[in-house]
Amino acid sequence: MALLEVKNVNKKYGNRAAMDDVSFNVEAGHIVGLIGPNGAGKSTTMRAITGLMSYSSGQITFDGQPVTFNNHSALDKIGNLIEYPAIYPNLTALEHLKLYAMDTKNPADFKELMHKTQIDGDNFGKRKAKNFSLGIKQRLGIAIALIRNPKLVILDEPMNGLDPQSVHDLRELIRSLAEEGVAFLISSHLLDELQKLVDDVVIINHGKIIQTATIETFFIHDQARWTFDTSDNELALQIAQDKNWQATIDNSQLQISGAENLQQVITALNAANIQIQSLNTATGNLEKSLLDMLAADNQGE
Ligand code: ATP
Repeated sequence: MALLEVKNVNKKYGNRAAMDDVSFNVEAGHIVGLIGPNGAGKSTTMRAITGLMSYSSGQITFDGQPVTFNNHSALDKIGNLIEYPAIYPNLTALEHLKLYAMDTKNPADFKELMHKTQIDGDNFGKRKAKNFSLGIKQRLGIAIALIRNPKLVILDEPMNGLDPQSVHDLRELIRSLAEEGVAFLISSHLLDELQKLVDDVVIINHGKIIQTATIETFFIHDQARWTFDTSDNELALQIAQDKNWQATIDNSQLQISGAENLQQVITALNAANIQIQSLNTATGNLEKSLLDMLAADNQGE
């Protein structure tokens, strides 16, 4: 049984479906990206999982226990950072942890938590939160989310507003926690960042799940694409199109996909005496795949 099981959940606002038969699982220790455009239903889904919001039908089971608006018993094992954490300007990091641990029977060890989330250096003991950078506030938010030793942490747009170094630090932190067995469900619009982090993706559009996959299988269907600069891009474009490959010239770069393999392309260009001056192989790109998928999904409506 998966740690979190969301089965056929429906939620309407008025007569508009914010969650339309939503089903997916989160396995223990996995980092799962919940991805979709604005208004797709990500926050609604996250709120339902944390029992913050009622839903009209379906089941959510966490660690074998049902989660509903009226049954929060599983929630002791879920940490969440759905909205910005309530950070009090005049409290230190440690004072925040003590405050949030007040109604917790077995809170995590404060020192260890501060060390893990890197809020223990640089006089954090004395500094008040009003002097923290956004990155530090976000790490404190994660420390707060971890206070009950949760098995799952839900993060809504955790990288928003962070500089590249802070994003990197946050990614490392999430990874190290996942290695210890904590699962994460993360929504983010920063798909390049998410791609570097997640094990699984759950794609949602108009309240419906349109795909769930591991990040590797997600890209299997993503065609290999090659970008060339050649001695004659126009002729190369013509040759590629004659072979029924997809080919475009963008910013003086020739992009080809749809050939069986790279060798086939090189052989065809060589045969026409076209010299290849540079070549790049595009790896799977979450953003492009997502846009293609959403375009196909929206077309089917
Ligand atoms: P974003 O990326 O913009 O945060 P999201 O994927 O999190 O979007 P939700 O906030 O879950 O999307 O919203 C899903 C749908 O439900 C949207 O059409 C939204 O307008 C609607 N919605 C969300 N909250 C409410 C509410 N309290 N009352 C009415 N409609 C709502």
